[in-house]
Amino acid sequence: MSDAHTVQTLRREFVLRCDPEGTIEHADAVAERYGLTPQARLSDRVAVDSHTKLKDFLARAQEKTADRWEITLLVEDAPMPVSVSGAAGDGGIWVVGNVLPQEFEVVMGQVRQSMAELADMHRTAERQQRELLRRNEELSRLNRELDDSARGMIVLHHEVEEKSDSLRRMSEVKSRLVSNVSHEFRTPLNSILGLTRMLLSRVDGELNEEQEKQLQYIRRSAESLTELVNDVLDLSKLEAGKVALRTGTFPVKELFSALRGMFKPLVPDPGVELVFEDPPEGFPDLDTDENKVSQVLKNLISNALKFTERGQVVVRADLPEPDKARFRVSDTGIGIAPEDQARIFEEFSQVESPIQRRVKGTGLGLSLSKRLATILGGELTVESEIGRGSTFSLVLPRQHPEVREMERLDQEAAELDPSRSQVLVVEDDRQTLFLYERYLRGSGFQVIPARSLEGARRKLEKIKPAAVVLDIMLDGESSWGFLRELKSRPETRDVPVLVVTVTNREHKARALGADEFCVKPMDREWLIRRLENIGRYRGAVERVLVIDDDEVSRYLVRKMLADTQYQVIEAEDVHDGVRMAQLERPHVIFLDFVLPTGTAFDVLDALKIDPRTRGIPVIIQTSKSLSDEEVAALSKDSTSVISKQSLSREVAIARIREALLQAGLGPATLATTASAEGV
Ligand code: ADP
Repeated sequence: MSDAHTVQTLRREFVLRCDPEGTIEHADAVAERYGLTPQARLSDRVAVDSHTKLKDFLARAQEKTADRWEITLLVEDAPMPVSVSGAAGDGGIWVVGNVLPQEFEVVMGQVRQSMAELADMHRTAERQQRELLRRNEELSRLNRELDDSARGMIVLHHEVEEKSDSLRRMSEVKSRLVSNVSHEFRTPLNSILGLTRMLLSRVDGELNEEQEKQLQYIRRSAESLTELVNDVLDLSKLEAGKVALRTGTFPVKELFSALRGMFKPLVPDPGVELVFEDPPEGFPDLDTDENKVSQVLKNLISNALKFTERGQVVVRADLPEPDKARFRVSDTGIGIAPEDQARIFEEFSQVESPIQRRVKGTGLGLSLSKRLATILGGELTVESEIGRGSTFSLVLPRQHPEVREMERLDQEAAELDPSRSQVLVVEDDRQTLFLYERYLRGSGFQVIPARSLEGARRKLEKIKPAAVVLDIMLDGESSWGFLRELKSRPETRDVPVLVVTVTNREHKARALGADEFCVKPMDREWLIRRLENIGRYRGAVERVLVIDDDEVSRYLVRKMLADTQYQVIEAEDVHDGVRMAQLERPHVIFLDFVLPTGTAFDVLDALKIDPRTRGIPVIIQTSKSLSDEEVAALSKDSTSVISKQSLSREVAIARIREALLQAGLGPATLATTASAEGV
């Protein structure tokens, strides 16, 4: 193959001449390669969609020139885009064609595709926008509905509150009624029992057999009525939350032997054996309310004996978990069907059975026991199979949660927190004590609990608290007497006392010297505000003025003294600082050495001139290392100099306390520090 031929094959332009109708008259080799041979009609060689364009092209070319028209040829049935230019000449039309590179077509294809995709995306976006609008409307509608429901809820909430209020009142009335009526019952019942006993003892003469039988019936009926009245009374006391918890440490073995003695004469059937299994060697003592545990066990044992005709009733104790004790009372009696097992713990519920008809009972024993179990921080459950017997289990913490909590409180109170003011809280109810402790946690006050007046007196011998909170519920008259005592003794006269009562006795409290008064229930904010207030003029809360232009330094001091009895006030420069000192009369001043409008010396000089501020102790804090002369000069007029780098909560508090001591301020502070050990 010649080079010329190779070049021919590489060429992409072609030249041809045709007549005005488009019949080819002359064609070069490249044109022929694309099938554009002489005699052929151009219209036969272009794609159908280019026919009109070809016609226009020829017409235009004949007139003047047609430049770069794009026409699609068909080469061996495949479309091939060409750019053609044409001009009239030699009695026909000369056409120069240029095959457009294939890639161009590809790119065009891509562009077309992208355009199509873009259009598609545009449509999707429009659709989404419409959807968004719709949802927005939906949301607004929902919002409006929610608003309506919220308003409805508020109304409902009020109604529920009112209902629960009236229920509470009704339940209070019910409890009062029940307990009054029960008491009313007791007196005549006691008379009946006493008189029956007297008649039966025959002090007033012999009885015939029939009379004796009748009297026995009367006695038994009166006894069972007494039992009912006692149960109802117990229950109403539990409901009213009036039962006091009396905790103490006791060995389970002793509890068992007391119960054994008590039940010995009561085992009715010779076919039934009552067994107390001694707890294993080393079984720990329990620290909870022994009476209540005993009451629950008595109920369970007497039930077991009632519903067992043959076999055994076994009482045992074990430790299902290290911190928990479990008592189990198992019998070989009639058992309880699964569907009745939950019901029997409800008030006045009994299961229908032949035995049931024979034995007496109130249907209150288990519901009482269940409540007692809850008070003990435990749980009462049953496992039973009809005809085989039942096992009732009482699982309870070995140490009553309140005892544990109280121990923690006592422990915490044994260590006086020097950063907080001590408040002696005299309150016999543990729950209320915990409440005070929770209220004052995280405040500048530390609770020192005293559960009796005697305990309070002992604490007062060791510390001088910033305030005393005195609950008057505590055996009535004697707590008023204690208030009188506090206010008359020189050592305690100036300790502010906040008196808390259930009914309004403000007049009496004030007359006896109370500094603040409150009717229960009190809320946290009130308590803290009052303590701060009574403390403020007694020196319990101490104001610390920080004079420093650096915001971060002021923030640090504020942060370090948060949760303490120190209240931070702030100033940014010499003038402001001196003015604040005169106005607020802080107990201590924290003074930055370098200030925007002067130095610490300027502040110290100004404070010295004014009699109101002369005595305020000043602690200089600085981040600059001072010369010996500077330190000496400063020490003359200030209490101490500390570097900012070494400032911590402890250092800040220690320095403030030293400063107050040197200045002879804060008597409460002084006393608590002096006897910080051994409370
Ligand atoms: P009651 O004074 O009737 O014994 P309780 O509340 O103590 O009231 O018991 C409620 C009911 O539970 C009983 O009446 C009895 O039907 C059923 N029950 C309680 N203990 C047992 C037991 N150990 N075996 C079978 N049934 C029992």
